[in-house]
Amino acid sequence: MSDCIFCKIIAGEIPSKQVYKDDLVTAFYDINPLAPVHVLIVPNEHIPSVNEVEERHEAVLGRMFTVAKKIAAEHGIAEGGYRLVVNTGADGGQEVFHLHMHLLGGRKMGKLG
Ligand code: AMP
Ligand code: ZN
Repeated sequence: MSDCIFCKIIAGEIPSKQVYKDDLVTAFYDINPLAPVHVLIVPNEHIPSVNEVEERHEAVLGRMFTVAKKIAAEHGIAEGGYRLVVNTGADGGQEVFHLHMHLLGGRKMGKLG
């Protein structure tokens, strides 16, 4: 998707502070952090949202969780805890339509709502 900001980050066409990259996913720091640790974990393939997820994506979806766990541990927040968020659609608060998992930690999270 040529007009997708996260596809451009994955391709290295616009800068980001990269945390992790492999054959399936890329992770980078959120430009507007909402917590001391705020990382976005995204599939390398352009999947707009959870609504477009298919069975063939199950490997990448699983990888998003194992990478989240690894990044949380590397940032020293595994034991204290953290939050994983996937906003979906307008009412879900999704602003960038390239599937992404927010990893938020380093502070006590409030109630969802
Ligand atoms: P969402 O509201 O779930 O779609 O989250 C989109 C997130 O992407 C927001 O937290 C933004 O701060 C973040 N974001 C937008 N542009 C960039 C960028 N160029 N680099 C890093 N994070 C970004
Ligand atoms: Zn994209």
